[in-house]
Amino acid sequence: MFEDLLAANERYAATFDLGHLTAPARKRFALVTCIDSRIEPMAMLALEVGDAKVLRNAGGRVNDDVLRSLILATNLLDVDRVAVMHHTDCAGASSQEALAARVGERLGTAPPDRDFQAIGDPDADLRADVEAVRSCPLVRDEVTVAGWRYDVATGRISEVC
Ligand SMILES: [Zn+2]
Repeated sequence: MFEDLLAANERYAATFDLGHLTAPARKRFALVTCIDSRIEPMAMLALEVGDAKVLRNAGGRVNDDVLRSLILATNLLDVDRVAVMHHTDCAGASSQEALAARVGERLGTAPPDRDFQAIGDPDADLRADVEAVRSCPLVRDEVTVAGWRYDVATGRISEVC
């Protein structure tokens, strides 16, 4: 089931030369973004391995686990700028009810009672995610936080907040 991926890793490891890197983010940057397969966080920002922390989940939402990682990244791993990047045509841009109904339909069950952190209002939800990082008491005041939207049709990022 995973043979193709493990074979690819064998080829990767054969010429691997990144063993000298350390854990802190060289560009002092962390990006929170969506799992959407069209998003190439490193390439779109000309980042190289070792430059940044990339945190991904459905929607690129700032939830408790993202905050946990950002608290550690900003206090222990040299990060002092954070961008929360949502994107156009996101599968999570829907209502909680609609997402739960679709999952239930796929499972052949009632809509599950689970918070999918749907993006009902793209601008307001992005601002709320940015504010959640800014107002986190365990993220230092000197950390700069931006809200971006990535356009999957053009490859361009726009600054929202
Ligand atoms: Zn998405």
